Amino acid sequence: MTELQAAKLKELKGTFRGAVLLPGDNAYESARKIWNAMIDKHPAVILRCAATSDVVLAVNFARENGLILAVRSGGHNIAGNAMCDDGVVIDLSQMKAARVDPDARRVNIEGGATLADLDAATQAHGLATPLGINSTTGVAGLTLGGGFGWLSRKCGMTVDNLESAEVVTAAGEVVRASATEHPDLFWALRGGSGNFGVVTRFEFRLYPVGPDVLSGLIVYPIAEAKSVLQGYRQFIAKAPEELSVWTVLRQAPPLPFLPAEVHGKGVIVLALLYAGAPKQGEPLIKPLRKFGTLAGEHVGVQPYTAWQQTFDPLLTAGARNYWKSHNFSTLKDGLFDVVIEYVEKLPSPQCEIFFGALGGATTRPAPDSAAYAHRDAMFVMNFHGRWEDPADDERCIRWARDFFNASAPFASGGVYVNFLTADEGLRIRAAYGPNYDRLTQVKRKYDPGNLFRMNQNIKPA
Ligand SMILES: Cc1cc2nc3c(=O)[nH]c(=O)nc-3n(C[C@H](O)[C@H](O)[C@H](O)COP(=O)(O)OP(=O)(O)OC[C@H]3O[C@@H](n4cnc5c(N)ncnc54)[C@H](O)[C@@H]3O)c2cc1C
Repeated sequence: MTELQAAKLKELKGTFRGAVLLPGDNAYESARKIWNAMIDKHPAVILRCAATSDVVLAVNFARENGLILAVRSGGHNIAGNAMCDDGVVIDLSQMKAARVDPDARRVNIEGGATLADLDAATQAHGLATPLGINSTTGVAGLTLGGGFGWLSRKCGMTVDNLESAEVVTAAGEVVRASATEHPDLFWALRGGSGNFGVVTRFEFRLYPVGPDVLSGLIVYPIAEAKSVLQGYRQFIAKAPEELSVWTVLRQAPPLPFLPAEVHGKGVIVLALLYAGAPKQGEPLIKPLRKFGTLAGEHVGVQPYTAWQQTFDPLLTAGARNYWKSHNFSTLKDGLFDVVIEYVEKLPSPQCEIFFGALGGATTRPAPDSAAYAHRDAMFVMNFHGRWEDPADDERCIRWARDFFNASAPFASGGVYVNFLTADEGLRIRAAYGPNYDRLTQVKRKYDPGNLFRMNQNIKPA
């Protein structure tokens, strides 16, 4: 930072309500760490905001001083866009307040909340909106890229349930975006991934869910992966929208319900949630137990919030992570052969391949009804490379890249923007699909100088 910029920062401190964290400050080191330990950036200053007024000050400070700007919410983005080198980070992690209106079935929540914060607030009223599968993820980043999880087949993508947003624009103005206020901005926010301003508040529609739901895991040995995947394909094509089943292929973690001899061995796991009355779900999930020789099962009725945290222990912050992802409209046998070949070569015990199931309500909106365009995607496959030792970087990254190339002929060509890594600039058009050109027009209107460029960037037209 230059002397002039440092003087301006001193001035900002006079009115800033949150914390100003500089290199050398106690909290700076932990504040610059994000979920993916591969990311090691050193911002000039982290502005940990306490209110929308702080975000306005921070945006103006970065713009007026020509500093690069990043926005951090949950810090989960695999590409590490929540941090920057030598610039300003707007850190929203302390802004998590939620207000639920149970009669109107709406929640209004601040931009730094995690999925766990949102679920806790809404489940107090037996309500929920579709979110992702790891409760420490940020609501903001997930929503702005599209957002999907266990409720999506029934209730749509997270963006399909966004009613309005409070946004601090590149000019430092606070605006409300909805179907009737700044509708172009509202369209772009729903899938345009952080390119259009800092969202300080989200308002979502809610649905009655739980609070207890039928959910759990059904596990088969990897030797039966092909027939299990074939059974899964047939099953999910006819499954009701209330039922979501994802598959995960990996080495079995030492889960207490699995026999000790299965621990560390290859498995294919069916993870399921039924978003209706548990009694109605029981008969529907029975066929899932008949795909082969069960290695173990842990299915029951449990609080929705507990299920939302089931995968947290496998997805803790601080490991090294590298992802590759494809969308699929159908799953072909040839793809299963490639999946099995690469599961046999998993480069670390923490690596996994998963198929998240979409369909149902996620496919109904028109592809141009919001910036999120992938209404043809029935499955999102993510190859989740995850390991601890930097010495394994090359080996694990190579596995993910090779698998990506081998599975590409079976994919739809689209990709979920929130699963792109930092080195996938060439896939940005595939991520925004046919909506890219319209997004560049909205970008020109709201951020002509591309202040918000630490993201999967849309260049102003
Ligand atoms: C373990 C794990 C599990 C996941 N599971 C799912 C899943 O089930 N479903 C799913 O849809 N996705 C899932 N994701 C992907 C997730 O949606 C993205 O990583 C998302 O970017 C995370 O948002 P965040 O707020 O935590 O990230 P951050 O890294 O804080 O931010 C992500 C991006 O959004 C921008 N941004 C953040 N906050 C704001 C804001 N308030 N206003 C404007 N821009 C902002 C940032 O600048 C950055 O570019 C998962 C990710 C992880 C790591």
